[in-house]
Amino acid sequence: KVRNGHEPEFIQAVQEVAETVIPYIAKNEIYNGKNILLRMVEPERLLSFRVAWVDDEGEIHVNRGYRVQMNSAIGPYKGGLRFHPSVNASILKFLAFEQVFKNSLTTLPMGGGKGGSDFDPKGKSDDEVMRFCHAFMTELCRHIGPNTDVPAGDIGVGAREIGFLFGMYKKLRNEFTGVLTGKGLSWGGSKIRPEATGYGTVYFAQSMLKTQNKDMSGKTVVVSGSGNVAQFASEKVLQLGGKVVTLSDSSGYIHDPEGIDMEKLEFVMDLKNNRRGRISEYAEKYPSAKYFKGEKPWNVSCDVALPCATQNELDGDAAKSLLENGCICVAEGANMPSTPEAVHAFHDAKILFAPGKASNAGGVATSGLEMSQNSLRISWTREEVDERLKAIMEDIHDSCIEYGKEEDGYCNYVKGANIAGFVKVADAMLAQGVI
Ligand code: NDP
Repeated sequence: KVRNGHEPEFIQAVQEVAETVIPYIAKNEIYNGKNILLRMVEPERLLSFRVAWVDDEGEIHVNRGYRVQMNSAIGPYKGGLRFHPSVNASILKFLAFEQVFKNSLTTLPMGGGKGGSDFDPKGKSDDEVMRFCHAFMTELCRHIGPNTDVPAGDIGVGAREIGFLFGMYKKLRNEFTGVLTGKGLSWGGSKIRPEATGYGTVYFAQSMLKTQNKDMSGKTVVVSGSGNVAQFASEKVLQLGGKVVTLSDSSGYIHDPEGIDMEKLEFVMDLKNNRRGRISEYAEKYPSAKYFKGEKPWNVSCDVALPCATQNELDGDAAKSLLENGCICVAEGANMPSTPEAVHAFHDAKILFAPGKASNAGGVATSGLEMSQNSLRISWTREEVDERLKAIMEDIHDSCIEYGKEEDGYCNYVKGANIAGFVKVADAMLAQGVI
Protein backbone atom coordinates (compact mmCIF):
# COMPACT_ATOMS: atom_id res chain seq x y z
CA LYS A 1 0.00 0.00 0.00
CA VAL A 2 2.87 2.37 0.78
CA ARG A 3 4.40 1.90 -2.67
CA ASN A 4 1.12 1.77 -4.64
CA GLY A 5 -1.23 3.88 -2.49
CA HIS A 6 -2.09 6.18 -5.40
CA GLU A 7 -3.27 3.25 -7.55
CA PRO A 8 -6.81 2.36 -6.34
CA GLU A 9 -7.73 -0.24 -9.00
CA PHE A 10 -4.42 -2.05 -8.52
CA ILE A 11 -4.83 -2.09 -4.74
CA GLN A 12 -8.38 -3.42 -5.16
CA ALA A 13 -7.25 -6.29 -7.39
CA VAL A 14 -4.34 -7.20 -5.09
CA GLN A 15 -6.52 -7.04 -1.98
CA GLU A 16 -9.01 -9.47 -3.49
CA VAL A 17 -6.26 -11.95 -4.23
CA ALA A 18 -4.50 -11.42 -0.89
CA GLU A 19 -7.70 -12.12 1.09
CA THR A 20 -7.82 -15.66 -0.27
CA VAL A 21 -4.17 -16.45 -1.00
CA ILE A 22 -2.53 -15.26 2.24
CA PRO A 23 -4.44 -17.80 4.40
CA TYR A 24 -3.48 -20.50 1.87
CA ILE A 25 0.20 -19.52 2.02
CA ALA A 26 0.08 -19.57 5.82
CA LYS A 27 -1.15 -23.18 5.72
CA ASN A 28 1.37 -24.40 3.15
CA GLU A 29 4.94 -24.68 4.32
CA ILE A 30 6.55 -24.50 0.86
CA TYR A 31 5.21 -20.99 0.17
CA ASN A 32 5.59 -19.65 3.69
CA GLY A 33 8.32 -17.07 4.36
CA LYS A 34 9.28 -16.71 0.70
CA ASN A 35 7.56 -13.36 0.12
CA ILE A 36 6.03 -14.78 -3.06
CA LEU A 37 3.02 -12.46 -3.12
CA LEU A 38 5.26 -9.45 -2.50
CA ARG A 39 7.29 -10.47 -5.54
CA MET A 40 4.15 -11.04 -7.61
CA VAL A 41 2.72 -7.57 -7.02
CA GLU A 42 5.80 -5.80 -8.38
CA PRO A 43 5.82 -5.78 -12.21
CA GLU A 44 8.95 -7.29 -13.72
CA ARG A 45 8.97 -4.23 -15.97
CA LEU A 46 6.70 -1.21 -16.54
CA LEU A 47 7.26 0.74 -19.74
CA SER A 48 5.79 4.16 -20.41
CA PHE A 49 6.42 6.05 -23.63
CA ARG A 50 5.41 9.03 -25.76
CA VAL A 51 3.14 8.43 -28.73
CA ALA A 52 3.05 11.46 -31.05
CA TRP A 53 0.74 11.38 -34.07
CA VAL A 54 -0.89 13.73 -36.57
CA ASP A 55 -4.70 14.05 -37.01
CA ASP A 56 -6.56 14.60 -40.31
CA GLU A 57 -6.30 18.38 -39.89
CA GLY A 58 -2.52 18.23 -39.49
CA GLU A 59 -2.55 18.90 -35.75
CA ILE A 60 -0.02 17.00 -33.63
CA HIS A 61 -1.26 15.05 -30.58
CA VAL A 62 0.65 13.35 -27.81
CA ASN A 63 -0.64 10.31 -25.90
CA ARG A 64 0.99 8.10 -23.32
CA GLY A 65 1.67 4.48 -24.22
CA TYR A 66 2.29 1.69 -21.69
CA ARG A 67 3.24 -1.95 -21.42
CA VAL A 68 3.21 -3.66 -18.04
CA GLN A 69 5.27 -6.88 -18.14
CA MET A 70 4.02 -8.36 -14.91
CA ASN A 71 5.21 -11.95 -14.63
CA SER A 72 7.02 -14.33 -16.99
CA ALA A 73 7.50 -17.30 -14.64
CA ILE A 74 5.44 -19.72 -16.74
CA GLY A 75 5.73 -18.24 -20.24
CA PRO A 76 6.09 -15.09 -22.35
CA TYR A 77 4.10 -12.08 -21.16
CA LYS A 78 0.60 -12.21 -22.63
CA GLY A 79 -2.30 -9.80 -22.30
CA GLY A 80 -4.30 -7.21 -24.18
CA LEU A 81 -3.85 -3.59 -25.16
CA ARG A 82 -6.53 -1.10 -24.09
CA PHE A 83 -7.14 2.23 -25.83
CA HIS A 84 -9.41 4.36 -23.65
CA PRO A 85 -9.05 7.86 -22.14
CA SER A 86 -9.21 6.39 -18.62
CA VAL A 87 -6.06 4.26 -19.13
CA ASN A 88 -3.34 4.84 -16.55
CA ALA A 89 -0.69 2.80 -14.69
CA SER A 90 -3.11 1.75 -11.94
CA ILE A 91 -5.67 0.30 -14.35
CA LEU A 92 -3.04 -1.49 -16.43
CA LYS A 93 -1.31 -2.89 -13.34
CA PHE A 94 -4.61 -4.26 -12.02
CA LEU A 95 -5.32 -5.83 -15.40
CA ALA A 96 -1.78 -7.25 -15.71
CA PHE A 97 -1.92 -8.66 -12.17
CA GLU A 98 -5.26 -10.39 -12.84
CA GLN A 99 -3.89 -11.62 -16.15
CA VAL A 100 -1.09 -13.54 -14.42
CA PHE A 101 -3.63 -15.65 -12.49
CA LYS A 102 -6.00 -15.97 -15.44
CA ASN A 103 -3.28 -17.17 -17.81
CA SER A 104 -2.08 -19.66 -15.24
CA LEU A 105 -5.64 -21.01 -14.93
CA THR A 106 -5.88 -21.70 -18.68
CA THR A 107 -3.21 -24.44 -18.25
CA LEU A 108 -1.32 -22.90 -21.22
CA PRO A 109 2.29 -21.62 -20.85
CA MET A 110 1.65 -17.87 -20.76
CA GLY A 111 2.92 -15.21 -18.36
CA GLY A 112 0.94 -12.04 -17.69
CA GLY A 113 1.08 -8.52 -19.11
CA LYS A 114 -1.17 -5.67 -20.21
CA GLY A 115 -0.72 -2.39 -22.03
CA GLY A 116 -2.40 0.37 -23.93
CA SER A 117 -2.81 4.10 -24.10
CA ASP A 118 -5.04 6.97 -23.00
CA PHE A 119 -5.86 7.47 -26.71
CA ASP A 120 -9.63 7.67 -27.36
CA PRO A 121 -10.58 5.96 -30.65
CA LYS A 122 -14.15 7.37 -30.43
CA GLY A 123 -14.81 9.89 -33.19
CA LYS A 124 -11.45 9.28 -34.90
CA SER A 125 -11.27 8.44 -38.60
CA ASP A 126 -9.81 5.11 -39.77
CA ASP A 127 -6.72 7.02 -40.98
CA GLU A 128 -6.24 8.66 -37.60
CA VAL A 129 -6.55 5.30 -35.82
CA MET A 130 -4.02 3.86 -38.26
CA ARG A 131 -1.53 6.68 -37.68
CA PHE A 132 -1.91 6.32 -33.93
CA CYS A 133 -1.45 2.51 -34.04
CA HIS A 134 1.62 2.87 -36.23
CA ALA A 135 3.14 5.49 -33.91
CA PHE A 136 2.36 3.30 -30.87
CA MET A 137 4.05 0.28 -32.43
CA THR A 138 7.23 2.15 -33.42
CA GLU A 139 8.10 2.14 -29.71
CA LEU A 140 6.32 -1.03 -28.52
CA CYS A 141 8.07 -3.20 -31.13
CA ARG A 142 11.35 -2.93 -29.16
CA HIS A 143 9.82 -4.67 -26.16
CA ILE A 144 7.66 -7.46 -27.62
CA GLY A 145 8.19 -10.60 -29.71
CA PRO A 146 6.69 -14.07 -30.14
CA ASN A 147 8.91 -15.50 -27.37
CA THR A 148 8.96 -12.37 -25.19
CA ASP A 149 5.59 -10.66 -25.02
CA VAL A 150 2.52 -11.23 -27.18
CA PRO A 151 -0.16 -8.49 -26.90
CA ALA A 152 -3.80 -8.79 -28.01
CA GLY A 153 -6.95 -6.63 -28.03
CA ASP A 154 -9.05 -5.24 -25.18
CA ILE A 155 -11.36 -2.23 -24.83
CA GLY A 156 -10.92 -0.02 -27.91
CA VAL A 157 -8.58 -2.48 -29.62
CA GLY A 158 -10.32 -4.85 -32.03
CA ALA A 159 -9.59 -6.38 -35.43
CA ARG A 160 -8.95 -3.01 -37.09
CA GLU A 161 -6.36 -1.88 -34.54
CA ILE A 162 -4.62 -5.29 -34.38
CA GLY A 163 -4.22 -5.10 -38.17
CA PHE A 164 -2.55 -1.68 -38.06
CA LEU A 165 -0.32 -2.70 -35.13
CA PHE A 166 0.73 -5.95 -36.79
CA GLY A 167 1.48 -4.19 -40.10
CA MET A 168 3.90 -1.78 -38.46
CA TYR A 169 5.58 -4.49 -36.36
CA LYS A 170 6.15 -6.59 -39.49
CA LYS A 171 7.58 -3.63 -41.38
CA LEU A 172 9.94 -2.57 -38.60
CA ARG A 173 11.21 -6.06 -37.72
CA ASN A 174 11.02 -7.49 -41.22
CA GLU A 175 9.51 -10.71 -39.94
CA PHE A 176 6.09 -12.36 -40.06
CA THR A 177 5.58 -13.92 -36.64
CA GLY A 178 2.80 -14.49 -34.15
CA VAL A 179 3.66 -11.38 -32.16
CA LEU A 180 0.03 -10.34 -31.68
CA THR A 181 -3.12 -12.41 -31.31
CA GLY A 182 -6.58 -11.52 -32.58
CA LYS A 183 -5.19 -11.29 -36.11
CA GLY A 184 -7.37 -11.57 -39.22
CA LEU A 185 -8.08 -15.09 -40.46
CA SER A 186 -6.11 -14.68 -43.69
CA TRP A 187 -2.93 -13.56 -41.89
CA GLY A 188 -2.46 -15.86 -38.94
CA GLY A 189 -5.58 -15.37 -36.83
CA SER A 190 -7.38 -18.26 -35.13
CA LYS A 191 -10.96 -19.18 -35.85
CA ILE A 192 -13.22 -18.52 -32.82
CA ARG A 193 -10.78 -15.93 -31.32
CA PRO A 194 -13.26 -13.03 -31.76
CA GLU A 195 -15.99 -15.13 -30.15
CA ALA A 196 -13.84 -16.76 -27.47
CA THR A 197 -14.18 -14.43 -24.47
CA GLY A 198 -17.96 -14.16 -24.74
CA TYR A 199 -18.50 -17.82 -25.60
CA GLY A 200 -16.13 -18.90 -22.82
CA THR A 201 -17.97 -16.78 -20.26
CA VAL A 202 -21.24 -18.49 -21.14
CA TYR A 203 -19.62 -21.96 -21.15
CA PHE A 204 -18.37 -21.17 -17.65
CA ALA A 205 -21.83 -19.98 -16.52
CA GLN A 206 -23.29 -23.17 -17.97
CA SER A 207 -20.80 -25.28 -15.95
CA MET A 208 -21.77 -23.38 -12.79
CA LEU A 209 -25.49 -23.86 -13.46
CA LYS A 210 -24.87 -27.57 -14.03
CA THR A 211 -23.66 -27.93 -10.43
CA GLN A 212 -27.28 -27.13 -9.49
CA ASN A 213 -28.76 -29.32 -12.23
CA LYS A 214 -29.77 -26.21 -14.19
CA ASP A 215 -28.76 -24.82 -17.57
CA MET A 216 -28.99 -21.69 -19.71
CA SER A 217 -32.09 -22.81 -21.58
CA GLY A 218 -35.09 -20.64 -20.77
CA LYS A 219 -33.08 -18.28 -18.56
CA THR A 220 -33.52 -14.52 -18.73
CA VAL A 221 -30.10 -12.93 -19.03
CA VAL A 222 -28.98 -9.35 -18.39
CA VAL A 223 -25.84 -8.36 -20.31
CA SER A 224 -23.92 -5.09 -19.96
CA GLY A 225 -21.66 -3.65 -22.66
CA SER A 226 -22.18 -4.04 -26.39
CA GLY A 227 -18.61 -4.59 -27.54
CA ASN A 228 -16.74 -7.75 -28.41
CA VAL A 229 -17.37 -9.67 -25.19
CA ALA A 230 -21.02 -8.64 -24.79
CA GLN A 231 -21.88 -9.45 -28.41
CA PHE A 232 -20.55 -13.00 -28.37
CA ALA A 233 -21.73 -13.75 -24.84
CA SER A 234 -25.21 -12.81 -26.07
CA GLU A 235 -24.83 -14.97 -29.18
CA LYS A 236 -23.89 -18.03 -27.11
CA VAL A 237 -26.78 -17.46 -24.66
CA LEU A 238 -29.16 -17.43 -27.64
CA GLN A 239 -27.61 -20.63 -29.04
CA LEU A 240 -28.16 -22.32 -25.68
CA GLY A 241 -31.80 -21.28 -25.55
CA GLY A 242 -31.56 -18.33 -23.14
CA LYS A 243 -33.15 -14.89 -23.57
CA VAL A 244 -30.96 -11.76 -23.52
CA VAL A 245 -32.95 -8.67 -22.52
CA THR A 246 -30.36 -5.88 -22.11
CA LEU A 247 -27.19 -4.41 -23.63
CA SER A 248 -25.42 -1.16 -22.77
CA ASP A 249 -22.62 1.23 -23.59
CA SER A 250 -20.99 4.09 -21.72
CA SER A 251 -24.06 6.31 -22.44
CA GLY A 252 -26.85 4.05 -21.12
CA TYR A 253 -28.65 0.74 -21.61
CA ILE A 254 -31.49 -0.75 -23.64
CA HIS A 255 -34.10 -3.13 -22.24
CA ASP A 256 -35.96 -5.30 -24.72
CA PRO A 257 -38.45 -7.49 -22.78
CA GLU A 258 -39.21 -9.46 -25.97
CA GLY A 259 -35.58 -10.53 -26.11
CA ILE A 260 -32.65 -9.66 -28.38
CA ASP A 261 -32.84 -12.37 -31.02
CA MET A 262 -30.17 -13.18 -33.61
CA GLU A 263 -31.45 -10.67 -36.14
CA LYS A 264 -31.45 -7.87 -33.55
CA LEU A 265 -27.98 -8.93 -32.38
CA GLU A 266 -26.70 -8.69 -35.95
CA PHE A 267 -28.03 -5.13 -36.03
CA VAL A 268 -26.02 -4.40 -32.84
CA MET A 269 -22.87 -5.97 -34.30
CA ASP A 270 -23.12 -3.82 -37.42
CA LEU A 271 -23.97 -0.74 -35.34
CA LYS A 272 -21.01 -1.16 -32.99
CA ASN A 273 -18.36 -2.77 -35.21
CA ASN A 274 -18.93 -1.08 -38.56
CA ARG A 275 -20.89 2.10 -37.98
CA ARG A 276 -19.42 2.73 -34.50
CA GLY A 277 -22.78 4.08 -33.30
CA ARG A 278 -24.51 4.27 -29.89
CA ILE A 279 -26.68 1.56 -28.31
CA SER A 280 -29.55 4.10 -28.04
CA GLU A 281 -30.11 3.53 -31.78
CA TYR A 282 -31.37 0.03 -30.93
CA ALA A 283 -34.46 1.51 -29.24
CA GLU A 284 -35.08 3.74 -32.27
CA LYS A 285 -34.99 0.69 -34.53
CA TYR A 286 -36.94 -1.74 -32.30
CA PRO A 287 -40.05 -0.27 -30.59
CA SER A 288 -40.21 -3.24 -28.18
CA ALA A 289 -37.14 -1.78 -26.44
CA LYS A 290 -36.69 1.18 -24.11
CA TYR A 291 -33.50 3.21 -23.72
CA PHE A 292 -32.33 4.33 -20.27
CA LYS A 293 -29.85 7.16 -20.63
CA GLY A 294 -26.94 7.26 -18.19
CA GLU A 295 -28.10 4.09 -16.37
CA LYS A 296 -26.86 0.55 -15.96
CA PRO A 297 -29.03 -2.55 -16.50
CA TRP A 298 -28.83 -4.07 -13.00
CA ASN A 299 -32.40 -3.20 -11.97
CA VAL A 300 -33.83 -5.47 -14.65
CA SER A 301 -35.20 -8.76 -13.35
CA CYS A 302 -33.15 -11.79 -14.51
CA ASP A 303 -31.88 -15.30 -13.71
CA VAL A 304 -28.33 -14.70 -14.94
CA ALA A 305 -26.22 -11.51 -15.15
CA LEU A 306 -23.19 -11.17 -17.40
CA PRO A 307 -21.31 -7.88 -16.80
CA CYS A 308 -19.26 -7.46 -19.99
CA ALA A 309 -18.35 -3.74 -20.16
CA THR A 310 -15.69 -2.50 -17.73
CA GLN A 311 -14.27 -2.48 -14.20
CA ASN A 312 -16.40 -1.47 -11.20
CA GLU A 313 -19.61 -1.20 -13.23
CA LEU A 314 -21.61 -3.30 -10.72
CA ASP A 315 -21.58 -1.95 -7.16
CA GLY A 316 -23.11 -3.06 -3.85
CA ASP A 317 -26.52 -1.48 -4.58
CA ALA A 318 -26.62 -3.05 -8.03
CA ALA A 319 -25.81 -6.46 -6.49
CA LYS A 320 -28.61 -6.00 -3.96
CA SER A 321 -31.04 -5.17 -6.72
CA LEU A 322 -30.00 -8.21 -8.79
CA LEU A 323 -30.44 -10.47 -5.77
CA GLU A 324 -33.84 -9.00 -4.89
CA ASN A 325 -34.97 -9.59 -8.47
CA GLY A 326 -34.09 -13.28 -8.40
CA CYS A 327 -30.64 -13.47 -10.01
CA ILE A 328 -29.00 -16.85 -9.26
CA CYS A 329 -25.81 -16.65 -11.32
CA VAL A 330 -23.30 -13.93 -12.19
CA ALA A 331 -20.39 -14.64 -14.55
CA GLU A 332 -18.01 -11.76 -15.24
CA GLY A 333 -17.17 -11.26 -18.92
CA ALA A 334 -15.33 -8.02 -18.15
CA ASN A 335 -12.33 -7.70 -15.84
CA MET A 336 -13.27 -6.82 -12.23
CA PRO A 337 -16.72 -5.39 -13.11
CA SER A 338 -18.05 -6.14 -9.62
CA THR A 339 -16.88 -3.97 -6.74
CA PRO A 340 -15.74 -5.73 -3.52
CA GLU A 341 -19.12 -4.84 -1.93
CA ALA A 342 -20.95 -6.55 -4.80
CA VAL A 343 -18.76 -9.66 -4.57
CA HIS A 344 -19.37 -9.92 -0.83
CA ALA A 345 -23.14 -9.55 -1.38
CA PHE A 346 -23.12 -12.41 -3.92
CA HIS A 347 -21.09 -14.59 -1.56
CA ASP A 348 -23.33 -13.80 1.41
CA ALA A 349 -26.37 -14.76 -0.66
CA LYS A 350 -24.51 -17.92 -1.74
CA ILE A 351 -25.39 -17.51 -5.42
CA LEU A 352 -23.16 -18.73 -8.23
CA PHE A 353 -20.53 -16.02 -8.82
CA ALA A 354 -17.54 -16.30 -11.17
CA PRO A 355 -14.74 -13.70 -11.19
CA GLY A 356 -13.50 -12.55 -14.59
CA LYS A 357 -10.12 -14.16 -14.17
CA ALA A 358 -11.88 -17.53 -14.37
CA SER A 359 -14.97 -16.90 -16.50
CA ASN A 360 -13.44 -14.61 -19.15
CA ALA A 361 -10.22 -16.63 -19.57
CA GLY A 362 -11.53 -18.13 -22.82
CA GLY A 363 -10.24 -15.16 -24.78
CA VAL A 364 -6.64 -15.46 -23.72
CA ALA A 365 -6.85 -19.26 -23.86
CA THR A 366 -7.82 -19.03 -27.52
CA SER A 367 -5.03 -16.50 -28.02
CA GLY A 368 -2.75 -19.23 -26.64
CA LEU A 369 -4.22 -21.58 -29.24
CA GLU A 370 -3.54 -18.92 -31.90
CA MET A 371 0.12 -18.82 -30.77
CA SER A 372 0.35 -22.61 -31.05
CA GLN A 373 -1.15 -22.58 -34.56
CA ASN A 374 1.28 -19.79 -35.59
CA SER A 375 4.27 -21.75 -34.28
CA LEU A 376 3.12 -24.90 -36.04
CA ARG A 377 2.11 -22.89 -39.14
CA ILE A 378 -1.25 -24.64 -39.27
CA SER A 379 -4.87 -23.59 -38.88
CA TRP A 380 -7.37 -25.61 -36.89
CA THR A 381 -11.04 -25.75 -37.88
CA ARG A 382 -13.73 -23.80 -36.07
CA GLU A 383 -15.00 -26.99 -34.45
CA GLU A 384 -11.52 -27.98 -33.24
CA VAL A 385 -10.88 -24.60 -31.62
CA ASP A 386 -14.35 -24.47 -30.07
CA GLU A 387 -13.90 -27.97 -28.60
CA ARG A 388 -10.56 -26.96 -27.07
CA LEU A 389 -12.09 -23.74 -25.71
CA LYS A 390 -14.94 -25.69 -24.11
CA ALA A 391 -12.52 -28.20 -22.59
CA ILE A 392 -10.34 -25.40 -21.16
CA MET A 393 -13.35 -23.64 -19.61
CA GLU A 394 -14.42 -26.92 -18.00
CA ASP A 395 -10.87 -27.46 -16.67
CA ILE A 396 -10.87 -23.96 -15.18
CA HIS A 397 -14.24 -24.66 -13.61
CA ASP A 398 -12.90 -27.90 -12.10
CA SER A 399 -9.84 -26.09 -10.69
CA CYS A 400 -12.10 -23.50 -9.06
CA ILE A 401 -14.14 -26.27 -7.46
CA GLU A 402 -10.98 -28.05 -6.28
CA TYR A 403 -9.62 -25.00 -4.45
CA GLY A 404 -12.82 -23.08 -3.76
CA LYS A 405 -15.27 -25.57 -2.27
CA GLU A 406 -16.16 -24.66 1.30
CA GLU A 407 -17.24 -26.87 4.19
CA ASP A 408 -20.95 -26.32 3.57
CA GLY A 409 -20.56 -27.33 -0.09
CA TYR A 410 -20.76 -23.77 -1.48
CA CYS A 411 -18.11 -23.03 -4.09
CA ASN A 412 -16.30 -19.72 -3.65
CA TYR A 413 -15.06 -19.34 -7.22
CA VAL A 414 -13.01 -16.24 -6.29
CA LYS A 415 -11.01 -18.22 -3.76
CA GLY A 416 -10.77 -21.19 -6.12
CA ALA A 417 -9.52 -19.12 -9.07
CA ASN A 418 -7.04 -17.15 -6.98
CA ILE A 419 -5.46 -20.17 -5.31
CA ALA A 420 -5.42 -22.37 -8.43
CA GLY A 421 -3.84 -19.55 -10.44
CA PHE A 422 -1.36 -18.77 -7.66
CA VAL A 423 -0.04 -22.30 -7.14
CA LYS A 424 1.31 -22.81 -10.65
CA VAL A 425 3.01 -19.41 -10.86
CA ALA A 426 4.39 -19.64 -7.31
CA ASP A 427 5.84 -23.11 -7.96
CA ALA A 428 7.60 -21.82 -11.09
CA MET A 429 8.94 -18.78 -9.23
CA LEU A 430 10.27 -20.94 -6.42
CA ALA A 431 11.99 -23.26 -8.91
CA GLN A 432 13.63 -20.31 -10.68
CA GLY A 433 15.00 -18.73 -7.51
CA VAL A 434 15.04 -15.11 -6.38
CA ILE A 435 15.15 -13.16 -9.65
P1 NDP B 1 -14.97 -3.29 -26.46
O1 NDP B 1 -14.20 -2.06 -26.64
O2 NDP B 1 -15.29 -4.15 -27.64
O3 NDP B 1 -16.37 -2.98 -25.74
C1 NDP B 1 -16.41 -2.35 -24.51
C2 NDP B 1 -17.86 -2.10 -24.13
O4 NDP B 1 -17.92 -1.62 -22.80
C3 NDP B 1 -18.51 -1.05 -25.00
O5 NDP B 1 -19.89 -1.30 -25.06
C4 NDP B 1 -18.24 0.22 -24.20
O6 NDP B 1 -19.14 1.29 -24.45
C5 NDP B 1 -18.40 -0.28 -22.77
N1 NDP B 1 -17.58 0.54 -21.88
C6 NDP B 1 -16.24 0.76 -21.97
N2 NDP B 1 -15.82 1.58 -20.99
C7 NDP B 1 -16.92 1.87 -20.28
C8 NDP B 1 -17.15 2.67 -19.14
N3 NDP B 1 -16.15 3.33 -18.54
N4 NDP B 1 -18.42 2.74 -18.66
C9 NDP B 1 -19.44 2.06 -19.27
N5 NDP B 1 -19.29 1.30 -20.36
C10 NDP B 1 -18.04 1.20 -20.84
O7 NDP B 1 -14.18 -4.14 -25.34
P2 NDP B 1 -14.29 -5.68 -24.98
O8 NDP B 1 -15.67 -6.17 -25.19
O9 NDP B 1 -13.16 -6.38 -25.64
O10 NDP B 1 -13.96 -5.65 -23.41
C11 NDP B 1 -14.98 -5.56 -22.41
C12 NDP B 1 -14.44 -6.06 -21.10
O11 NDP B 1 -14.01 -7.43 -21.24
C13 NDP B 1 -13.20 -5.32 -20.55
O12 NDP B 1 -13.25 -5.33 -19.14
C14 NDP B 1 -12.05 -6.20 -21.02
O13 NDP B 1 -10.90 -6.02 -20.21
C15 NDP B 1 -12.66 -7.57 -20.82
N6 NDP B 1 -12.02 -8.65 -21.55
C16 NDP B 1 -11.92 -8.62 -22.91
C17 NDP B 1 -11.32 -9.67 -23.58
C18 NDP B 1 -11.30 -9.74 -25.06
O14 NDP B 1 -10.91 -10.80 -25.59
N7 NDP B 1 -11.71 -8.72 -25.80
C19 NDP B 1 -10.71 -10.79 -22.86
C20 NDP B 1 -10.94 -10.78 -21.42
C21 NDP B 1 -11.55 -9.72 -20.83
P3 NDP B 1 -18.74 2.48 -25.46
O15 NDP B 1 -19.01 1.92 -26.83
O16 NDP B 1 -19.62 3.59 -25.08
O17 NDP B 1 -17.29 2.78 -25.23
